[in-house]
Amino acid sequence: MRCRFCGNELKHEFIDLYHSPLSNAYLRLDALNQPEVYYPLKIFVCDHCFLVQIDEYKTSGEIFNKEYAYFSSVSSSWLAHSKNM
Ligand SMILES: [Zn+2]
Repeated sequence: MRCRFCGNELKHEFIDLYHSPLSNAYLRLDALNQPEVYYPLKIFVCDHCFLVQIDEYKTSGEIFNKEYAYFSSVSSSWLAHSKNM
């Protein structure tokens, strides 16, 4: 696995949070009795640029589709926090 920022090979596991479904991928009522897909949630840190990142199991286009439930750009409290930082 390569660092998304600098391309360096990632050798250091930062933390292993085991498995999780995709973020904000809420289930519809008809899917509640069906199996839910979980993905590994291992976090790595780049020893060159120190970017902390996960491996990519789904593309951004597959995650941020028309049913994605949260966009940080519409959260006024998040925008205020980001501006303060
Ligand atoms: Zn890097």
